[in-house]
Amino acid sequence: MATYSVVCGRCPFCSGVTKVEVSSPEEASAVLAWLADDPRTRPFVQDAFPHFTLDDREAMISASHGECFDAAVSPWGTRGRESFPPEEG
Ligand SMILES: [Zn+2]
Repeated sequence: MATYSVVCGRCPFCSGVTKVEVSSPEEASAVLAWLADDPRTRPFVQDAFPHFTLDDREAMISASHGECFDAAVSPWGTRGRESFPPEEG
């Protein structure tokens, strides 16, 4: 199945381009329309694109890469939520 990349912006953490992959030109248009819409009045991303992954949604909302966002918000760095350290002692 063909995929279409939609550029969401630049990651505030690593300055890399952030994209989401969609499966149709129509969906690519819907993503672009959502991005261009007024953030105060547009629907929540999880309502507009319920099948998107968390990383896709983060890219849409803040243009952050999922792994960069995790590294920034987690004290244990990249993918901290999946590599939770064992209890001390
Ligand atoms: Zn990044």
